[in-house]
Amino acid sequence: MDYRHIRLPSQGQKITVADGQLQVPDEPILGYVEGDGIGPDITRACLRIWDAAVAQAYGGKRRIHWCELFLGEGAAARYEGDYFPDETLRAIQELIVAIKGPLTTPVGEGFRSLNVALRQQLDLYACVRPVRHYQGVPSPMRHPEQVDVVIFRENTEDVYAGIEYQSGSEQNQRLAQFLRGELGANFFDDAGLGVKPVSPFASKRLVRKAIQYALDHQRESVTLVHKGNIMKYTEGAFRKWGYEVAREEFGDRTITEDQLYEEYGGKQPEGKVVIKDRIADIIFQLMILRPQEFDVLATMNLNGDYLSDAIAAQVGGVGIAPGANIGDHVAVFEATHGTAPKYAGQDKVNPGSLLFSGVDMLEYLGWQRAADMIRIAYQDTVTDGIVTYDFARQMEGATEVPTSGFADALIERLGDADLESRRAERARELAAERAERERRRMQAPDEEMLASGRKPVTVADIMTRSIISVPASASVDAALRVMREHDISAVLVEPTDVQEWGVMTRRDVVGRVAGGGRSSAEVTAGEVASRPIITVGADTPLSDFGRLMMERDIRRAVVERNGEFVGIATETDFTNSVEQFGWVRGE
Ligand code: NAP
Repeated sequence: MDYRHIRLPSQGQKITVADGQLQVPDEPILGYVEGDGIGPDITRACLRIWDAAVAQAYGGKRRIHWCELFLGEGAAARYEGDYFPDETLRAIQELIVAIKGPLTTPVGEGFRSLNVALRQQLDLYACVRPVRHYQGVPSPMRHPEQVDVVIFRENTEDVYAGIEYQSGSEQNQRLAQFLRGELGANFFDDAGLGVKPVSPFASKRLVRKAIQYALDHQRESVTLVHKGNIMKYTEGAFRKWGYEVAREEFGDRTITEDQLYEEYGGKQPEGKVVIKDRIADIIFQLMILRPQEFDVLATMNLNGDYLSDAIAAQVGGVGIAPGANIGDHVAVFEATHGTAPKYAGQDKVNPGSLLFSGVDMLEYLGWQRAADMIRIAYQDTVTDGIVTYDFARQMEGATEVPTSGFADALIERLGDADLESRRAERARELAAERAERERRRMQAPDEEMLASGRKPVTVADIMTRSIISVPASASVDAALRVMREHDISAVLVEPTDVQEWGVMTRRDVVGRVAGGGRSSAEVTAGEVASRPIITVGADTPLSDFGRLMMERDIRRAVVERNGEFVGIATETDFTNSVEQFGWVRGE
């Protein structure tokens, strides 16, 4: 391929994709963009560290051949003011894997952000942010070591899709008129209007990637983070599609949190990832109170944006948090902070964010040994008190070094003498934590579920799952016995030649038997059952279920999924849920 300013190295081979898998040669060519502001300072330092680690880890058998690419100011200087040259995009597509420093977005050039443009142009639909703590790094948490999550943020839609209409504009007025006139929507005059598209296609490919990651990295769970209790058809739908992907594409390798408790008694089966979900605002609390419960988080664009910075702050700030934007194969790893122009060229700032993005890149290539070596050497450098200014001002007795000095100190500490024992130590720690969580789930499942922030959102979350039926001719006494034995509050009553299916609840017995002055031994279930039975979909939001019960004056409904009865939900289940978990809607 012809390039104007990009020079492919004469040695090394390109990464390829075969059968959906990345094929990484021993001497791959990788793209890098220095970036603007502090970009050159941190990139120079990181290139040295990555190269040294690869050389040591593989005894010279592997080596990266770097190909410089240009974006931002570095591009504008070469491409007649073009901040976003087309050939850089082509080169990234050709090389498949690249890493970049921070970029200055030109003001008034038609870009909202170069980073957003890059994600859209290359369809890098997953923003992946691993966040974990390294011993010695200053943190506001008492136990920052409990934070070890990977956030998968959807990159292409949600309110970031840019479908927005300014207050007072002609388009805004036309849309407002349509929404009010045609759809009966109600909002204040002159409201700015934005559209929040969330599609099954984009949601599913994001969740698919998160689940695959969890499986590949032996992670315990994937949590779908959403605000589906309020935004049902966007965030609620994301949750629904997320569970659908898990069920349809990873059915034999995933279980839901419900299954974990109900079918496995809280003991996680070997080799299976638990799929759970949490409401977005609750996850912020939980990541502070019980971060150890979470592993891989999958969420939409806006939630993910907030969440990744908030969690990064827990373990030492956004200054060292790594990130990557990944499509089906093409991946661009990046520093997550900006260009910090006031420090540009001073050899002063922390290279941590770009460094760890590169560590994740090495993992993406499958070069785990080099990645682990850097992680360990980083930790050793920081625990020896050798840090850049930003950490030095938060640590007592630290030695402040420049960016390049930090790289020197880290490279000195690279080595594989105790790599295996340190890896084994970490694996032991993780296994012990996992066993402790399992013990609590098995001993006190209800308390654990409540404390771990699980809140019911849909009818499926509160229903009685065992569908048990009794013949219409059974006495109410017999039916009550069945309910007691199975610890359920309602049974289905089977049809007869003249009557259809019905439902009998404890409440019916009080109302129709005791209230009518009759004995429960004489009356049959068929007589007291409610008919016709009302069915609701398992995914019906609880608030809709509450409304349905009020509007139709019913106290129970049979829950169906894909045309099959899967449970019974009653007024009692509903009120118990509100009592126990609070009124989820409207929070
Ligand atoms: P910023 O560049 O991230 O800098 C804000 C502050 O964060 C700095 O003043 C510094 O704090 C701290 N900081 C950032 N990177 C650091 C590092 N490597 N080591 C230590 N401290 C670090 O954010 P900004 O000032 O809002 O944005 C500046 C420019 O960057 C803008 O043009 C923006 O568009 C661009 N930007 C680019 C990206 C990207 O390319 N990914 C992302 C965000 C922003 P102290 O002052 O406390 O020392």
